[in-house]
Amino acid sequence: MMTTTDLKDFGFRELGIAARLLTALCKERPGFLGAGVHLMMNMHSGYVFLTDEDFNVGMMNGDALEQWHSCPECGAEGFAEDLPDDPCCQAYLEEVRA
Ligand SMILES: [Zn+2]
Repeated sequence: MMTTTDLKDFGFRELGIAARLLTALCKERPGFLGAGVHLMMNMHSGYVFLTDEDFNVGMMNGDALEQWHSCPECGAEGFAEDLPDDPCCQAYLEEVRA
């Protein structure tokens, strides 16, 4: 995956998203991020996100910092509300929330 943690590679738009992520982090520490949290950008998609050493990912969903999920069974990706109603995705979400 084409990712970078080097802020030199972030454009103005990406730095703006990074700032919003950090602002959200100032307000509330999300429970899904553990140790080794850092900012990262996907240079291919332009997505900017927070990630930890266990590859948990947090992105801005509107004004909220939310966990970005990827179903280990079918590979579906998105915020909780975006994952399909498939049994594998719903079982995964239940496990994550437990
Ligand atoms: Zn699935």
